[in-house]
Amino acid sequence: MKKLRYLLFRVSFIFLNLLILFGPVFAQQVRKRGAEAGQNFFDVLLQSKFITMLVIAAVVLVLLLTRKMNNRLKVSILLVSTFLYGISANLGLKIFSGFSMHPSPICAATKSILYGFRMSMIVTLAVILFLTLIGPKLFCGWVCPVGAIQELIAMLADKLGIRRRKWNFRFTQTIRLLIFLAFIFLSWTAIIHTVANGRVVALSLYDYINAFDGYELKLQSTLLDNLFHFMPFVLTLIFAFFTYRPFCYLVCPIGLITNIVEQIALFRVVRRKNTCNDCQRCVAKAPCPAVPEILKGALLRPDCFSCTVCTRSCSQNLLKFGLKDE
Ligand code: SF4
Ligand code: SF4
Repeated sequence: MKKLRYLLFRVSFIFLNLLILFGPVFAQQVRKRGAEAGQNFFDVLLQSKFITMLVIAAVVLVLLLTRKMNNRLKVSILLVSTFLYGISANLGLKIFSGFSMHPSPICAATKSILYGFRMSMIVTLAVILFLTLIGPKLFCGWVCPVGAIQELIAMLADKLGIRRRKWNFRFTQTIRLLIFLAFIFLSWTAIIHTVANGRVVALSLYDYINAFDGYELKLQSTLLDNLFHFMPFVLTLIFAFFTYRPFCYLVCPIGLITNIVEQIALFRVVRRKNTCNDCQRCVAKAPCPAVPEILKGALLRPDCFSCTVCTRSCSQNLLKFGLKDE
């Protein structure tokens, strides 16, 4: 345990050092991009979309830490996120004009690699990383509309008594990583590309498998375009009945990045070791592959979306959201 804490301390220390070393360069880039686009980081951050995301995450964190989160609150919060960041922009109402998921988390992560950062991408990534560093995966668990709808479907599947398959984390992580590496390779070689102004421009592999697009209820010009636009979302909704958060674990590059960041998050699921009677109830109930690793005190954990199933299933309150293991 001491070794684990020491290693975590080391990782955080390295991370802080990187922040100190590269922070000024990053800040300079942010200023430069902002000056080019006539936008300032805080002007974008203070948009209704990002402010409400931070407020929702803060409310969730308090509810998790005080053990006040229950299914009714959980469904309400997830419905709000699904509506605000997924559906509302389709209504064409002025009040929701600032809530569009453009740039989607996937676009912010991948198109910035392909075409360079824009201020809205920088702010989207900053909010995702900040909420992941606070933890436990506050963005993915509670704010992301694709994550929220998969979580709601998982709850519905439980109510309907559908048995969901729990994939081995090594398998899902390998698929997620391979897709990301394929994206890097295809971008680098520009094998998938378009020609604009006589220049070859690489296209993102994720444009063809981006479930966020499905929230944009707009018909595309060709059948093939419609397939790529809606199919990833529809498949995600279907598979979410049979396995927990399929898009997050198998495809999403944000899932991949936040899984690395969540290892040093401030708050996470922690355990009180000495009271465990090894009944394995939490492992059986949990939809995710993270609980056995949490019980073992593993250094690296699979994604935890703070769904609260494990913390609420332990009859001895062994698991909780907190700062560190006791
Ligand atoms: S992993 Fe991707 S799809 Fe899943 S909740 Fe996070 S950002 Fe959303
Ligand atoms: S069951 Fe526990 S470890 Fe798994 S996602 Fe839910 S809160 Fe996280």
